[in-house]
Amino acid sequence: MAQAIVGRASQRGAAPLTHDELRSSRATTPATAAASSPRTTNGDAPGLSLSWNSWRSVCWGRLGVNLGASRVVPRLSGSLTMHVVDRKVIVVGGGVSGLCAAYYLRRAGAAVRVLETRRVGSGASSGNAGWITPAQAGPLPEPGLVGYGVRSLFEPRAPLYVEPRQLVRMLPWLLGFARRCNEADHREGRLALGTLGQRCLELLEGMAADGVDFELHRVPLLAAAIDTRQAHTFLSRLEPLSRLGFRIPSEVLGQEDLRSLEPTLTDAARAGFVIEQHSVVEPQALLAALTRRLKELEVEIGEGSEMRDADLDGPRVVALRTSTGRYRCDQVVLAAGAWLGPLARMFGTRLPIQAGKGYSFEIRPRSMPRHALLLLDPHVGCSPLGDRLRVAGTMEFSGLNTRLDRRRIQSIAQGASRLIDGWADPDEDTLWCGLRPIAPDGLPIIDRHPKIANVFFAGAYSMLGMTLAAPAAEKLAQFMVTDHRPPELAPFRADRFRRVRTNMPNQPRHDTSRGADRWPGSRRGT
Ligand SMILES: Cc1cc2nc3c(=O)[nH]c(=O)nc-3n(C[C@H](O)[C@H](O)[C@H](O)COP(=O)(O)OP(=O)(O)OC[C@H]3O[C@@H](n4cnc5c(N)ncnc54)[C@H](O)[C@@H]3O)c2cc1C
Repeated sequence: MAQAIVGRASQRGAAPLTHDELRSSRATTPATAAASSPRTTNGDAPGLSLSWNSWRSVCWGRLGVNLGASRVVPRLSGSLTMHVVDRKVIVVGGGVSGLCAAYYLRRAGAAVRVLETRRVGSGASSGNAGWITPAQAGPLPEPGLVGYGVRSLFEPRAPLYVEPRQLVRMLPWLLGFARRCNEADHREGRLALGTLGQRCLELLEGMAADGVDFELHRVPLLAAAIDTRQAHTFLSRLEPLSRLGFRIPSEVLGQEDLRSLEPTLTDAARAGFVIEQHSVVEPQALLAALTRRLKELEVEIGEGSEMRDADLDGPRVVALRTSTGRYRCDQVVLAAGAWLGPLARMFGTRLPIQAGKGYSFEIRPRSMPRHALLLLDPHVGCSPLGDRLRVAGTMEFSGLNTRLDRRRIQSIAQGASRLIDGWADPDEDTLWCGLRPIAPDGLPIIDRHPKIANVFFAGAYSMLGMTLAAPAAEKLAQFMVTDHRPPELAPFRADRFRRVRTNMPNQPRHDTSRGADRWPGSRRGT
């Protein structure tokens, strides 16, 4: 069922019937149409004179000015240039959120440097399932999860697990999380995420057209459950997204229909449905392609460079201190994934972010599923990646570490093997875990620092970083350049948590030294 629409093309083969085709017996759903983005929003902030088209022109125009690239469209004109000339931005974090932020800031004309403690993609952004999935985007807190969480508290094999010794430390966060496990908050969160995610495919295609060389596979998502009620509940919670233009199936399919759509499911799969607007990327390939393109665009990618401290001049950061030296800057984006909490504390702000560890591995099943699979009862996701099936799941709160607990791998394998025919043992070389950055309401934090005007947060993407990083980064760059918050970012403000406390760092240092760092892509040089 996979169709590559970007990069090295692969053709759709003998495609099975889609969900819609099966329901209506009308063969009308080519994969391209099925996966096309829903209605596109206008990204203007109210009262802003900068229209979306102008903003796009600003981005492309600046690249045209700086790079003279032949693919560049309209040129920047008049006073708009004022917004984008010559600023140096440091992005801290080389995951998908940091790289996407770097990309759109560079498109807006900034000189950009990415700092990454280890290697690009060494955080959560590499071994994940690679779903680009705006049509089922939802926050982690949901009705009924509190009871489930309490029952599974001491069960290290449960899909949702809180390590008992983390309980005291995590209590305020857990209480905040529990408060959001209700229909109203869940629905509101879904709408906010769906709104932000509406343009994600369009933006990824835009990146590809700009030379980010990766494959985006249009692979519908089949959600399957052993317990029929799970399928009904999950589908009913997607309903708000239909208001945004996403095509949400109207009913749950039974066992027979499911099996005819996806013959690799076992008899245990009793109910489910298909979401057509869904794509899959190989996360590592996307990051590698973005890194290559950023380097071509003269973005400095500083691997092995850990941000450790900042120099302030009044309420502004003027330089970052890192393990590889000191870098002057005009603006900073903190995109450090699960490490965003400790990083924000360096800037005097407590952000309530916990690390939700997830695991993945790959198998070579006897026959490859035609869909990406969401197995609702064991809470496992599967992505066909060529001849391998990547299997991902579990949410473990055990602190900020990447210790791999084999019991959890086994529990994913056990759950998924009940539903997938021709299951094979996990390939040992592919066992992986990564930390999802999660706020108590399950929504991202994309905002300006409450007190330090030139520091911005881009994080807490939870289970949706691959899906949301590009649209969030595009809006963040717009915010940073125009100084106006795009309306799509309003639900993701940093000050929405009651417990967020902000003090200016105790002893702001006054910067007197000259920066010796070289800035490629900046007309000011150093
Ligand atoms: C098992 C699993 C499956 C998932 N599947 C999907 C999916 O299918 N679709 C989807 O949309 N999302 C998925 N996600 C979620 C997604 O992976 C995350 O939301 C996303 O990767 C977060 O990206 P990030 O850039 O914010 O963080 P990261 O990728 O963790 O990047 C943060 C980077 O910051 C660096 N860093 C930290 N501190 C510093 C410092 N002081 N100085 C310099 N660098 C620093 C780290 O080394 C790290 O590389 C999944 C997650 C998991 C765990």
